[in-house]
Amino acid sequence: MREDFLSVIAARGDTQIKQNEGLAKYSTFKIGGEARYAIFPENKNALVFAVAACREFDIPCRVIGCGSNVLFDDGGFSGAVIFTKWVNKTEVSENIIRSECGLPLSALSTIAKNASLSGLEFAFGIPGSVGGAVYMNAGAYGGEIKDTLTEVEYFDTETETLHRAPAAELALGYRESIFQHKPYLLLSATFALHRGDRAEIEEKMASNMAARKDKQPLEYPSAGSAFRRPVGHFAAKLIDDAGLRGLSCGDAQVSEKHAGFIINRGSATSSDVLELCRIIKEEVAGRYGVSLETEFIHIKD
Ligand SMILES: Cc1cc2nc3c(=O)[nH]c(=O)nc-3n(C[C@H](O)[C@H](O)[C@H](O)COP(=O)(O)OP(=O)(O)OC[C@H]3O[C@@H](n4cnc5c(N)ncnc54)[C@H](O)[C@@H]3O)c2cc1C
Repeated sequence: MREDFLSVIAARGDTQIKQNEGLAKYSTFKIGGEARYAIFPENKNALVFAVAACREFDIPCRVIGCGSNVLFDDGGFSGAVIFTKWVNKTEVSENIIRSECGLPLSALSTIAKNASLSGLEFAFGIPGSVGGAVYMNAGAYGGEIKDTLTEVEYFDTETETLHRAPAAELALGYRESIFQHKPYLLLSATFALHRGDRAEIEEKMASNMAARKDKQPLEYPSAGSAFRRPVGHFAAKLIDDAGLRGLSCGDAQVSEKHAGFIINRGSATSSDVLELCRIIKEEVAGRYGVSLETEFIHIKD
């Protein structure tokens, strides 16, 4: 007789699995219902195994890094949410850093700084993982993942095959990558950096962080900028010019500090956030003829 999903995952001994787990605590928005299964693989093989097992058992699954660019639905997710945070081994060799997908970006920047390697200072303070950052081609302060990424290792969840690909084949663009369009699980990423002065690298990281604290409402849960930058415009400026700064739906609010952020003032629901986004899009399109596109990913059934 076929074993059940829970036993198959638990039998590995290197993967935690929880049932009916509240998702809010796993996203920087602090919003969301329950996942039928929350899975925490402790290494790369366990991660691949968990994704393949979901496929074998016909259980829909979503892979989550730091949960800093997702909105979990109030209704939760009736499949499995697989968290990569423990899949985070990193190797430094000369000017090359190879990191597994679950490593937080700030940790990656710090590892680079400690090795006097420059090129990832921009990533310090972006609250994502390496996997989520490649998926989004995350960027800030004039830098983006694309600048230093040379190669990735990924698992094609449809063909269940492992691959390596050079960065040039990943269709990296503004908050864009092939991972948004293909059923690929990013396992590790390789970055080529250049030698720098450790004190200067540290200074750049600190000044980026100070700028974030100054400009962004970091005291509230959010998913960062709620909208992608429309060509030729800045979403925050359009929202501000439309008089929407401070607008609320329930406990979801356009931040008073940075109109590009939607913050959770305490007990916002995903419906509050989505309704607020709808109003913002409608107002901005009506006034300026610009269509805004939500940047965070809505995880739902
Ligand atoms: C306060 C704040 C500030 C922010 N500032 C910035 C900024 O300056 N610049 C910027 O670009 N972003 C910023 N963000 C957004 C966010 O941090 C980035 O998009 C980040 O790269 C998301 O990484 P994550 O691990 O949290 O992804 P998650 O939110 O966990 O996931 C996002 C998407 O990536 C997919 N994904 C995650 N891991 C993998 C994997 N291993 N393989 C395949 N797919 C995967 C998920 O399935 C999901 O679709 C900010 C967010 C917050 C809350």
